[in-house]
Amino acid sequence: MGPHGEVLARLALDAAVDEGPERTLERVGDAWMQALESAGIAQARVIAAAISLPGPTDPLAHRLYDPPIMPGWSGWPIVDTLRETFDVPVFVENDADAMAFGEAKGVDPHHTLVLVKASAYIGAGLVIEGRIFRGADGGAGDIGHVKVGGDALCRCGRHGCLAAEASGAAVMARLAEQGVALADVSQIHDFVERGDLRATTEQRRAAELIGKVLATVVGVVNPSHLVISGSMVSPALIATIRSVVYAASLPRATRHLEIRAGGLGGDAALVGLTRVAIDEMYSADAVNERLGTDA
Ligand SMILES: [Zn+2]
Repeated sequence: MGPHGEVLARLALDAAVDEGPERTLERVGDAWMQALESAGIAQARVIAAAISLPGPTDPLAHRLYDPPIMPGWSGWPIVDTLRETFDVPVFVENDADAMAFGEAKGVDPHHTLVLVKASAYIGAGLVIEGRIFRGADGGAGDIGHVKVGGDALCRCGRHGCLAAEASGAAVMARLAEQGVALADVSQIHDFVERGDLRATTEQRRAAELIGKVLATVVGVVNPSHLVISGSMVSPALIATIRSVVYAASLPRATRHLEIRAGGLGGDAALVGLTRVAIDEMYSADAVNERLGTDA
């Protein structure tokens, strides 16, 4: 992306984080080189690189901290590995945080935005007063492991987590048990549109569980924007989440609350990561360091 958020080149890579960090980051580095080449941009013109990953990101070390769904990644030196390809500042963010920061572009910086990424997994990102809120260990917004009852085994090793009961992967697994085989999460919506009763029931159950957890988030954080993104998103999913959140919240908590689908689609994380890199590169501290002053 260019400094004003314009996409200069786009390349889709079918990477699986459970291949481990070494292999995945090598492929990411190769893909970055290819994207530069296809856009005709010299490597020397790159000023920063940024990557988002589906795990809690340590805010100081820029490493993942005990990611529940990414074996082998905990503590891996992501920045050092990527700098072997690109010798520029590298930024690492949690994917939901990056998406939230992207969707918060143009939103009044005094507002608070919560973004829920509802896809194969479920996570959330918080932007409070114009800044990503990561928490002490980068785990803020990791709503996927809130207990919602039920006995489905989660990838974290415990039972009854929101991610195990209501994520896209969970809905697909529950439908498979009923003889409905889906190729990917976005097909849930297709089956609901076609009037499939099993898909409709499972989608509704998932939306109710997500809504229940979000009602608690709304009570604690009192956001002005609640943005639902990811491959599970459909008008029906958002309508159910909205009705559960409003029914379970005090009027004060929802008076200024807008619940909506993400406006940037798959580009939310790209926009957010560009903002992170630009903000960091042009922060007063970073500029002073480059100028060699302590002013
Ligand atoms: Zn869990």
